[in-house]
Amino acid sequence: MKVARTIADLRRTLAPERRAARTIGFVPTMGALHEGHLSLVRLARARTDVVVASIFVNPLQFGPAEDLARYPRDEASDLAKAEASGVDVVFVPGLEEMYPPGAATTVDVGPLGTIVEGAARPGHFNGVATVVAKLFNIVEPDVAFFGQKDAQQVAVIKQLVRDLDLDIEIVVGPTERDADGLALSSRNAYLSAVERQVGSTLHVALRAGEAAITSGDDPAIVEKAMWAVLADRDGIEPDYAVAVDPDTFMAPASFRPVLLAVAARVGTTRLIDNLLIER
Ligand code: AMP
Repeated sequence: MKVARTIADLRRTLAPERRAARTIGFVPTMGALHEGHLSLVRLARARTDVVVASIFVNPLQFGPAEDLARYPRDEASDLAKAEASGVDVVFVPGLEEMYPPGAATTVDVGPLGTIVEGAARPGHFNGVATVVAKLFNIVEPDVAFFGQKDAQQVAVIKQLVRDLDLDIEIVVGPTERDADGLALSSRNAYLSAVERQVGSTLHVALRAGEAAITSGDDPAIVEKAMWAVLADRDGIEPDYAVAVDPDTFMAPASFRPVLLAVAARVGTTRLIDNLLIER
């Protein structure tokens, strides 16, 4: 596996692959790799000839009071996992390589970036869209792979590709979970043993929301069912529980499909999860 730390080195590495008309698959990550990330690598391995992954903790997508400083970083372990799961080229840029002094241009994704998760994390999705647009220009992938775990990020990236006429196919991989339903996340590393157990409540809430859909296509009923599960459990502070259109994150025009999404704080850790229901 080739490790590229500069944009120039990455481009030099991929140029002959492109000339040979080999398709390039791309999996962007912030590292602390787990099975969720590796499942996307395996999807890329199956779909494209050359698999590129990036590891970059993007400061632009963290708010001032968020966990940028304590975000888990373990490059040696990440590189071993990436290589074992079939990555050909890993791009690990430093902060100044991605944002040299004077860098000022950002991508604004409009209203989609300011609702639901975007309302809780002002500026987050513009930060995501900016770094992903840059990474797309650096890697120039044919196909890019994202996790359903971050459902609103998927909607934002699809809109970015549409709005900026990027010639990149977006493939979405299913959410990888632990046995009790807790969605895998780099942030799970912050949880104590007790908090780890409490964390599975997010998935319980989503299943309660799914069960409530049978009583009619009423977002309010479904949202109440999810909120009740979250609010009932000690040690969890719900942030939102919504039933929305998976593309716009607005009230669903129909329940075909509908996305159930929840966010909650467990101790000092903010967790998100969702369930896409296609009927
Ligand atoms: P992150 O490192 O958190 O920025 O995530 C990098 C990519 O992995 C994103 O496309 C995420 O949606 C995806 N991802 C994170 N957790 C999971 C999971 N549990 N299952 C599937 N994909 C995931």
